[in-house]
Amino acid sequence: MSRAPLIQPNQNGLFCEAGGFYIDPWRPVDRAVITHAHSDHARSGSRAYLCSRRGEGVLRHRIGSAAPIESLPFGEATTINGVHVSLHPAGHILGSAQVRVEHQGEVWVVSGDYKTAPDAAAENFEPVRCDTFITECTFGLPIYRWPAQSEVFADMNRWWRANQALGRTSIVLAYSLGKAQRVLAGVDASIGPIAVHGAVAPFLPLYRREGVALPEVETLTKDNAADYRGKGLVVAPGAVQGTTWLKKIAPNSLAFASGWMAVRGARRRLSLDRGFVLSDHVDWTGLIDAVKATGAENIGATHGHTAPFIRYAREVMGLNAYNVPSRYEGERIDREEPEEPQTELPL
Ligand SMILES: [Zn+2]
Ligand SMILES: [Zn+2]
Repeated sequence: MSRAPLIQPNQNGLFCEAGGFYIDPWRPVDRAVITHAHSDHARSGSRAYLCSRRGEGVLRHRIGSAAPIESLPFGEATTINGVHVSLHPAGHILGSAQVRVEHQGEVWVVSGDYKTAPDAAAENFEPVRCDTFITECTFGLPIYRWPAQSEVFADMNRWWRANQALGRTSIVLAYSLGKAQRVLAGVDASIGPIAVHGAVAPFLPLYRREGVALPEVETLTKDNAADYRGKGLVVAPGAVQGTTWLKKIAPNSLAFASGWMAVRGARRRLSLDRGFVLSDHVDWTGLIDAVKATGAENIGATHGHTAPFIRYAREVMGLNAYNVPSRYEGERIDREEPEEPQTELPL
């Protein structure tokens, strides 16, 4: 790279100096372009926000209905201080975007969190040609290869039926924004009644409004728990683990839907009955394919297993790969959505 980087991190976040804006800043700034509404990427307090039109509802829910948010349809460009900015589907959660930034003939793409596998509750990832691609590396090791989603859901349906036969309630722990909706859209709702935890419920109308087909569900309360006990499926955030909330629907079988379920021992350490390998982040194969599809020569790797991926990208793919320090996180399994970032999986 001969000229100064178009986007580089400073104390507030990933900064585009030419345009005077930040992408997913970790501190309040004048102008923030937001990839998606997870708490490590979307923080309140900035003076102006730009996000995708399909992601606007969930972002408002997260940072406040009065927040100064403008939105842009996917693929449509706007200009910020002479820098062209457009948003493209990242396939991570509803409305999640990659940010394409073009200035003086140079194109950068910041992917945010993304996945290349299909998801009935999110748009399909679209590769964007660029010179420099900034990618997450949450699962940037060759051991992470996701099974086909259809197999995972077939497995989940079988587990649910088997629990019914034993008179147990099936509980799937999943992030309340993104994963929970993906689970609801993916299971066979004809098997039995489905309920969600109160943390999941507020997102459902926002998803339905964008045309995502979700089964009819109720919010689980102590008054309706009997309708689900022994036969229902309940989707709840990981934070309920170890709380009395779970006793509402005992006996139950407890499962977690996460990419970390591919790690030996993770399920046992969390005292789960089942683990479903279902991630909203790209796996190793998807990461390599996504990087290739951009045609980028420069690869900025941020959060997760950056070092092994940088080595691979340099030595095997012949790319100019480098580390981009950030405060984003990958997928976590210990609690729902932490405020304070960590770089290692806290097992
Ligand atoms: Zn995310
Ligand atoms: Zn993230």
